[in-house]
Amino acid sequence: MVDPASSVSETPAADTTVLTEDDISCTITGGVFIEPVKTNCEHRIEEIALARHLRDDKHCPFCRAIVTSAVPDVELTKKIQDQFVKVHGVINEDNKKIFDDQKQALLDDARYNSVRGAPIIPSVSATRRSDLDPDEDLRFMGIDPAVRSGISGLVSLFFDLIAPASSFSDRTRGEPAPGAPSPSTLFTQVQTSIRAYNLLLAELTADTIPSSSFYKDRSYDKIANAYIDKADTDITNLEDATRVALKISKGFSKNNLLTIISLKYVTHKNYLKAFQTTTKMHNLFFIPLTCLLISVIATFHGFLFILKGVTWPFRALITRLTS
Ligand SMILES: [Zn+2]
Repeated sequence: MVDPASSVSETPAADTTVLTEDDISCTITGGVFIEPVKTNCEHRIEEIALARHLRDDKHCPFCRAIVTSAVPDVELTKKIQDQFVKVHGVINEDNKKIFDDQKQALLDDARYNSVRGAPIIPSVSATRRSDLDPDEDLRFMGIDPAVRSGISGLVSLFFDLIAPASSFSDRTRGEPAPGAPSPSTLFTQVQTSIRAYNLLLAELTADTIPSSSFYKDRSYDKIANAYIDKADTDITNLEDATRVALKISKGFSKNNLLTIISLKYVTHKNYLKAFQTTTKMHNLFFIPLTCLLISVIATFHGFLFILKGVTWPFRALITRLTS
């Protein structure tokens, strides 16, 4: 056993600050930070999620400042290892599992495939990224930090002006006008509503996300899953889950959800609803496969029912004899 008190006193004073869940989790991914980066506006975001976000929107999802630099937050990465994965110098198996699962989830998430290994900020090569960090330049010039934030704003404005091509293409893709909440901000609101069990509000918010953003499908996916979770107490939630799932544009995610919903109906022995749900799929591979699965489970349920009926006289007899 390690004495917690003694191991705490060995760690440097700066590392003993208590980490809260908000400190170590990324608002965009919703999970613990794996490779956090710090933006020029001092916001922390999971590197791959920021890279993906910046393909749609060059502004920080938290403060709307133009993201001109994003550097690995080595200090936070170390803190998560030293104070979350390890607690008082000993590996905490539960926390380690949370960390490892999130790491794997990010690796498995196909939405990030297009930005893996790519520079965080699009069209800026990794070597030139530091050149574009206004803070770095100003620090080099010895400018007072108070003045710096004002100049940073001007520098951001300058970058906004020299990038008319990208903002034009943003608008043609149906992006919201400047000043409107970004897709990731709306996604954060969706997640907040889901946590507050206000799924209708979450759906309304998701409806306002531009179709070009992957956050729209992701929001619907999360909302549908929340309805599916609620179905164990009230089966009618599956109707809502189906409605939300049908709003997803990506075929694979939609079919995936509809399969889960129809199998959920099967576990509640509502085979008609289960088959009806499969007909809403748009995939010739998923429909027969799911129908076959439903039939197999239905047959199994039926077999159990017959078995119960056949053995009933014997069971009744045994009960009578033993009582
Ligand atoms: Zn920011």
